[in-house]
Amino acid sequence: MSEVCLLGATGSIGGSTLDVIRQHKERFSLRSAAAHSNVRRMTEISKEYPNAKLALFDEKAALELKKITGKNVLAGMAGLLELVSDCDLVLNGLTGSVGCEPTLKAIECGKKIALANKETLVMAGTVIKDALKRNPQSQITPVDSEHNAIFQCLAGRGSSEVETLHITASGGPFREWPTEKFSQITLKDALNHPVWSMGKKITIDSASMMNKGLEVIEAHFLFDIPYERIKVAVHPQSIVHSLAQFRDGSLMAQLGAPDMRIPILCAMAFPERLPLETKRIDLTQIQNLAFFEPDLKKFPCLSLAYEAGMAGGTRAAVLNAANEVLANAFIKEKIKFLDIPRGIEHCLAKIEEQSGEMNLEKILFVDSSAREEAEKFVEKICWNT
Ligand code: NDP
Ligand code: MG
Repeated sequence: MSEVCLLGATGSIGGSTLDVIRQHKERFSLRSAAAHSNVRRMTEISKEYPNAKLALFDEKAALELKKITGKNVLAGMAGLLELVSDCDLVLNGLTGSVGCEPTLKAIECGKKIALANKETLVMAGTVIKDALKRNPQSQITPVDSEHNAIFQCLAGRGSSEVETLHITASGGPFREWPTEKFSQITLKDALNHPVWSMGKKITIDSASMMNKGLEVIEAHFLFDIPYERIKVAVHPQSIVHSLAQFRDGSLMAQLGAPDMRIPILCAMAFPERLPLETKRIDLTQIQNLAFFEPDLKKFPCLSLAYEAGMAGGTRAAVLNAANEVLANAFIKEKIKFLDIPRGIEHCLAKIEEQSGEMNLEKILFVDSSAREEAEKFVEKICWNT
């Protein structure tokens, strides 16, 4: 029996994880659940799992949940970190850079981590890898479907045996839109993802293809492969979740229905494979599998991410923080879709590189400077419109 700490319990990944736990009561129990401020959903979770410990980042919401449930409800980052230290397995389904500190804490406590929060690795990949070296009993298994696919294809093989990683992308809702129409993109258009139903921020990241950019950086740190050997392939059918090309000419792929419960269960149960009730792919129904090169002119966020990843240091932390502020500003309809890459470029040019050894304090400092700069960029646009 594995006691699970579920961070981001009220979100899309959180909901899928709860379903996986429901299907495997003999293997997983919900030790604790955390979210930002969704009191209603956390009350339901508490009813279903009366013994689960609870935390809400927002202090007022934590007090409200405490009143409703009569339970002790932890609050703030301290609350999240306390939950992480008391479990067997952490599933990090938080959205944004807030997920970084809990991942680091989980590593320091020697926990097994099923990681959906890609922002952790994008902003602090080097710090996370150093922490894993210092705490070899801790282990990260990727939940992100592409990385989980590659994790399965590699089956423990080292980077020296790999020639290229191919990360597949659905291409998002604007794959076939002409560039001239991009200035008219509305929030509704961008939230209309052709394949996956996910939280709003990752849905916007998918529309701008920043999600793929973040995933390239995530893959670099997870699998220790240089950026030159990580390629993106647009694959509209979203059946092949990613591929690994080995040096002997073999190309391994992982296929499956687009259902996040598959990679979630795989990451949680690893190295075992447990049964899952979900749709199976019917091979006779697949007419074709297409793969294209991404259009970097149309989707500048992808190039920006490659550049930031290759530049190293704190560049990816700047990119990640700026993107988070700008994607959220677009969700609030304060800025236009094309302002997202513009604002990221602006922040990358403005925020100076930090020299010397990388540590969490430095990353968090850069993260907050980039956020401030991105917020100023948003305010300026609001003033001018
Ligand atoms: P959602 O927006 O659906 O959920 C986000 C969760 O994080 C919610 O539970 C939210 O709580 C919580 N949260 C946000 N901010 C804080 C905070 N400051 N403190 C505590 N909790 C917080 O996101 P998704 O589930 O879609 O995505 C989660 C992560 O997984 C992201 O990093 C995403 O990139 C990654 N991912 C998601 C996939 C998907 O299919 N959804 C696929 C692959 C990766 P509240 O509800 O209270 O606001
Ligand atoms: Mg993904």
